[in-house]
Amino acid sequence: MAITEMEVKEIAEKINNKELSSLEVAEAFLKRIDTVDAGINAYITVAHSQARKAAGEIDDRIASGESVGEYAGVPVGVKDVLCTEGLRTTCGSRILSGFSPVYDATVVKKIREAGLVILGKANMDEFAMGSSTENSYFGPTRNPWDPERVPGGSSGGSAALVAAGEAPWALGSDTGGSIRQPAAMCGIVGMKPTYGLVSRYGLVAFASSLDQVGPMTRNVHDCAVLLDMIAGHDPLDSTSIPGARPCYADSLNPNVRGLKVGVVRELTSTGIEPGVLREFNKAVELLAASGLECEEVSLSSFEYGLSAYYLIAPAEASSNLARFDGVRYGFRAEGEMEDIWEMYDRTRSEGFGDEVKRRIMLGTYALSAGYYDEYYAKALKVRTLIVEDFNRAWGKFDVLVSPTSPTTAFKIGEKVDDPLTMYLSDICTIPVNLAGIPAISIPCGLSGGLPVGFQIMAPPLQEEKLLSVACGLESLLGFDEKPPALI
Ligand code: GLN
Repeated sequence: MAITEMEVKEIAEKINNKELSSLEVAEAFLKRIDTVDAGINAYITVAHSQARKAAGEIDDRIASGESVGEYAGVPVGVKDVLCTEGLRTTCGSRILSGFSPVYDATVVKKIREAGLVILGKANMDEFAMGSSTENSYFGPTRNPWDPERVPGGSSGGSAALVAAGEAPWALGSDTGGSIRQPAAMCGIVGMKPTYGLVSRYGLVAFASSLDQVGPMTRNVHDCAVLLDMIAGHDPLDSTSIPGARPCYADSLNPNVRGLKVGVVRELTSTGIEPGVLREFNKAVELLAASGLECEEVSLSSFEYGLSAYYLIAPAEASSNLARFDGVRYGFRAEGEMEDIWEMYDRTRSEGFGDEVKRRIMLGTYALSAGYYDEYYAKALKVRTLIVEDFNRAWGKFDVLVSPTSPTTAFKIGEKVDDPLTMYLSDICTIPVNLAGIPAISIPCGLSGGLPVGFQIMAPPLQEEKLLSVACGLESLLGFDEKPPALI
């Protein structure tokens, strides 16, 4: 079997027992990237020499008898919204041109400490704003299942590179669905952890009360392993949750008979493509047939989730993005200028793309005097209602389920000029971010030859239960379809 098709576990075992060197593994993936990525555009930056150097160091440590981590030497892709020391970080934007961070994000530091080898930085919608990876200054990423289609977004590069065998797993970030929705569209597993479980230090901020980093993997076991590597308290992130946490990989238990599953009515009725609903319903039937109690539940506040999100997220973004001013780092407009105001103006006009500008304007408006109470404050109240709806549901159900995305992957260009239709892509994923709870998307079937994602949601910090249900469903489904061969 080709190295690029092996399971993470197999790669790790072979490196540990010296059947393969870490450098050989890195070379195999770099070759795969050099062969297929011109047609996918999943990577913004491929770190050939840094990856070779890191892999060589792991090999040296193994040769000298040092005990390296269980997964040391396994390659990984990293979304380009995470700071990587000495490796260009763009956030998919022109405005960060020439920015090479002087420090690693905490999650990057952690995966390096575990011995993972970073192959490169994954393409994304500019500043993680989007659902299709078309809003990237570096061009759209294509879906390995059909290059005419989007991979979802904003972590579309991370999802596509895992699906195309350009790394065995990757890190993404999720503010309103950006890990789960592209995972669904590319037929892989993607998880958003509980807000605060994973450090946001060094994650370039979009909407700070919603952003979380999480794993994007080929299966649920790898998802648990990668979560184990990145989770944990970080004093550098004031919203990081203190205290001990379990080992997620060790606590995976696919036998989840007797658990109570709530099927969210508001996310399974209107607006869901028939093929998506068909595959979703089949998966629910499988869960019911294997001894879980499945029942419909109505969470009526979800109707307003999307509207609340598109006030809260842009409001936070308009504040977070004020720092990109052309003064300290990144892009600065050139030519003769009257004063500093013109420099700010031209730098931000030329440096940001249309969607980012739209969000800054929406957010500034929502926060402005006279509109604050009418928009922003009202959105925060809706957020509270959503939290309360979830809390009521946890009184009765262990987990809640829905499709991850209302559609399968759409054509490149199909929705890019219609922001409202694009925003609807996240209708099923947004309530999770507003409530700060964990959720996972696993592939549950194909519709028209394209992957369909199944979303499972759990109460805060119940990642063990979430991953166990996902693991159980994964084995019941036996989904092992791969994207058609890439040229
Ligand atoms: N698609 C949503 C947005 O555009 C979510 C993005 C995200 O989760 N980063 O805001």
